Amino acid sequence: MHKPYAHRTAALATQHGKQRALSRPFQDLTGLNLVVPSMLDTDTLGSFDGRLARTGTAIDTAIAKARLGFAASGQSLALASEGSFGPHPRLPLLAAGIEVLVFIDAERELTLTETLFVERTNFGHRDVPETAALGDWLTRVGFPGHALMVRPLGGAVIAKGIQDAATLARAVAEAVALSPDRRARVETDMRAHLNPTRMASIRRLGIRLARRIATPCPACAAPGWGQSGVTRGLPCADCGTATEMIAGIEFRCTACGHAETLSRPDGLTHAPPGYCPACNP
Ligand SMILES: [Zn+2]
Ligand SMILES: [Zn+2]
Repeated sequence: MHKPYAHRTAALATQHGKQRALSRPFQDLTGLNLVVPSMLDTDTLGSFDGRLARTGTAIDTAIAKARLGFAASGQSLALASEGSFGPHPRLPLLAAGIEVLVFIDAERELTLTETLFVERTNFGHRDVPETAALGDWLTRVGFPGHALMVRPLGGAVIAKGIQDAATLARAVAEAVALSPDRRARVETDMRAHLNPTRMASIRRLGIRLARRIATPCPACAAPGWGQSGVTRGLPCADCGTATEMIAGIEFRCTACGHAETLSRPDGLTHAPPGYCPACNP
């Protein structure tokens, strides 16, 4: 495979051990060696508030983190990630997340982004008067392999990164005592190094972005040829009317603007009439 950044170094703007998930795919697929700059405070750029951010917002935050990476490392290549979790947009009883990974090549003025909509996450919380009331929720969120945070209900976090039952019981008792209505909020700690499920999502995303970086644009050979979106309007098999179904996959080069539309990977060229706004209103 073509390795566009062999023997080059990129700053990975993270405080949460994401190099464990990302170093290997970037080394193997792009030739990039990742370094984590010291003196980096990405937490100033916002943290989880329990609401799912819009993808654009998450991308902006990741780009801001990558810029911190340039400033802290002196490198002209930087990588940063951002995750956001909250209620599933269509199934509010379930949790979901988005993970964004951004690579910036400042010399080529290239910004490459991959996003992942995550439907497998342990994100959640419980408001309880005592630890026993957490019941099997602890198992469902993967405790103690996945860490927890505790706060008095309505108050600020008093303990985070909790990975053992004794520390959890102490923190819950303290939070209950501090809370006007005698309840503690226990929530999942979503920082990557304390959340193996999230680390696995970041690794998947890393492999996708590294593959994209290793794919040159067919027109100008810049790194990062990959999917930029989809076009809709697959024609109805009976009457030819454009439907809402995906007609093609759009690829675009962020360096030169060259674009191509590829047919659907499943080979479907017409929509079943059941999806047609004319035949099946
Ligand atoms: Zn190009
Ligand atoms: Zn039709």
